[in-house]
Amino acid sequence: MSKLWSPFVKQLVPYVAGEQPKMKRLVKLNTNENPYGPSPKALAAMQAQINDDLRLYPDPSGEVLKQAIADYYHISPAQIFVGNGSDEVLAHAYHAFFQQDKPLLFPDISYSFYPVYCGLYRVEPKPIALDEQFQINLADYQQDNGGIIFPNPNAPTGCLLGLAEIEALLQNNTETVVLVDEAYIDFGGQSAVSLVDKYPNLLVTQTLSKSRALAGMRVGLAIGHPQLIEGLERIKDSFNSYPLDRVALAGAAAAFADREYFEQSCAKIITSREQLSEQLTSLGFKVLPSAANFVFARHPQQDAAQLSIQLREQGIIVRHFTQPRIAQFLRITVGTDEQNTALVEALAELL
Ligand code: PMP
Repeated sequence: MSKLWSPFVKQLVPYVAGEQPKMKRLVKLNTNENPYGPSPKALAAMQAQINDDLRLYPDPSGEVLKQAIADYYHISPAQIFVGNGSDEVLAHAYHAFFQQDKPLLFPDISYSFYPVYCGLYRVEPKPIALDEQFQINLADYQQDNGGIIFPNPNAPTGCLLGLAEIEALLQNNTETVVLVDEAYIDFGGQSAVSLVDKYPNLLVTQTLSKSRALAGMRVGLAIGHPQLIEGLERIKDSFNSYPLDRVALAGAAAAFADREYFEQSCAKIITSREQLSEQLTSLGFKVLPSAANFVFARHPQQDAAQLSIQLREQGIIVRHFTQPRIAQFLRITVGTDEQNTALVEALAELL
């Protein structure tokens, strides 16, 4: 450990991202990317940005993207914040809203960045256990807190909460920020964006990395009351006033504008997810009901860690977590039909 590190850095436990292998031949089903690529209109918009104007800084307010999101959701640009991936948007939200003298509530089995940011922003973590069906029970979150954060659908389980449950929480929790992380909402869930006008302490974050297939461009967003958005802008302007480059802004705006491509690609992934779940079930797996672009599955007679190693040897990467309660599960991204077939065939041979 470097002697030059501050005591604060020494105690940080950073996030470990899923493997991003160099080899292209691998069937990569480990980090929930979209197998179909971005909208052709988004690609064209990005290519059009590769010119001499790149010597100029981008628009610090990200106006073109905010307007495209506002048009999509029929809201005002003042209700929208954009950032460099939703990881960055989440970081700014921790900084801006989560109190340090009261615990932040989040599911114990969830996105592993939540406890990491607690370390970074000195927020006290209070993980709340999922119920026996691996579901988030929002009734358990009605307790004293300095903020609440959960993904809907949850990751890595894929389990979805309904808007009525989220609204019930918001009715009882009015003093602290409730952040709904909707990274996977477009694969079958109902967005809580429809609730932001009614609940000024609700912040919804989303990403263009999944349903809009732009993980490589790093674009995320938050939607909420203009006062929450102003808080995020303050943090951003004290940190990096140009988080989104010209190419990312143009591509993300075009991706939001191309509804038809987006809807087709989500519909295809949803159909493939259901097929994949059925095929895994026929192989003896127990598959949790998923509303995301991945499935979370365990085989009662097989060791999940071992299976993931054996799949890797065959060129197929899936995600395995070591947390004891989920150590017997594999999280498998829904790929193209060919990729899903390759996975199912490899598993059929291994079992
Ligand atoms: N939230 C959840 C629940 C996620 O799974 C991810 C993707 N790893 C993110 C946020 C971050 O997405 P990105 O930074 O690519 O926008």
